Amino acid sequence: MMIPISDAIRIVLAQTPRLVIESVALSDSVGRVLGEDIIADTDLPPFDRAQMDGYAVRAADVANTPARLHIVGESAAGAGWHQEMKAGEAVRIMTGAPVPVGADAVQQVELTRESEGAEFVEILEPVVTGRSIVRRASEIKAGATVLRAGEDINAAMIATLASFGYAQVKVGRRPRVAVMATGSELVNVDEKPGADQIRDSNNYTLAAYAALAGAAVARLPLAVDDTEELKKQIAAAAEQSEVLITSGGVSMGVYDFTKTALKELGAEIYFERVALRPGKPTVFARLGNTLVFGLPGNPVSVAVTFNLFARTALRAMQGATRPELTEETAVLARDLKGSFERESYLPAVLRTDEKGTLLAEPLKWGGSSDFVSFARATALVNVPKGVKSIDSGNCVTIVRLPGSAP
Ligand code: AMP
Ligand code: MG
Repeated sequence: MMIPISDAIRIVLAQTPRLVIESVALSDSVGRVLGEDIIADTDLPPFDRAQMDGYAVRAADVANTPARLHIVGESAAGAGWHQEMKAGEAVRIMTGAPVPVGADAVQQVELTRESEGAEFVEILEPVVTGRSIVRRASEIKAGATVLRAGEDINAAMIATLASFGYAQVKVGRRPRVAVMATGSELVNVDEKPGADQIRDSNNYTLAAYAALAGAAVARLPLAVDDTEELKKQIAAAAEQSEVLITSGGVSMGVYDFTKTALKELGAEIYFERVALRPGKPTVFARLGNTLVFGLPGNPVSVAVTFNLFARTALRAMQGATRPELTEETAVLARDLKGSFERESYLPAVLRTDEKGTLLAEPLKWGGSSDFVSFARATALVNVPKGVKSIDSGNCVTIVRLPGSAP
């Protein structure tokens, strides 16, 4: 039975266990899924902070300019001036330094002139109260939750984690993934294919995408189309991995033995056909405690089915709040044909036009075996089942391909 993509994803999520949380060094945390809420342990800024180099003053003292003030001290970043500044006084201050009690504005150094052996300063322009001061806790109050468990840690978050003292960060443990290409025609990339042979690419594609999804990946030796051999290799692979991803051998051919091997090993098969183009013969099963994704052999189908199904499982295992690819809307830049009985995810290049509109230009491609065209893809365009065609200029749903430039 051919099931809808949304049902398939629901089944995958229902069967996917959540892995434990582990601690990693902050410097190793990018790309992982946060396993704890991140709490501010200080106000930000932690003190009233100068935003300019200049002079801390009382605004009332400089209402009429030029105004001559007595320099009573200096406040530098890391070395503040901790007395009370009085009327008629100024404190020389640097960006990032604490503003002394008694001052209510900072006048930038460009609008001042020091005189008489640095004892006095002339303030050349008035300044409004609060100018160039960032008040304590105006950005964040101590105790506030600033990031949530389940968010993906990216480089933009590192300053936040560092600033609140997270030298160690709790993250979802990486799932242990094994990838195994099947097909008697396959040779390793460092070999020259003989007659009737091709080089394996799926093991590398799957390893790349699985790593982007946060997994720890092992590439297994190539498997031939022989049920007994496949059973041995699948059983061994399941022993050493939490998720096994195979490619090839799931169509209707005489030598497509992946499902037979899984069944004979006693695996529970949850689905074996999805109403998806490309990627109809996608298998999802469990062998012991190992989740098994039996993906079709065509390289583009592998990329599509991995990212829809296996990636979702790998991210759910790590506790991601949004394990699935994020849907966005783009304007179609070329007519596209749909399928009567399947939902499509077709490779496309995203770009932005002069007005800032996101455009999706479907690749001119030769089908699910055309990995050379696919090399330029940055997104997949969704065409709902039963939609015959979509004309360029219409809005479509897209998902970005992980690891591809936007
Ligand atoms: P299959 O799903 O096994 O029928 O394979 C479908 C197509 O994908 C065939 O043309 C295979 O040669 C090709 N193919 C299968 N596995 C791989 C692989 N690991 N690398 C590259 N192409 C593959
Ligand atoms: Mg095959």
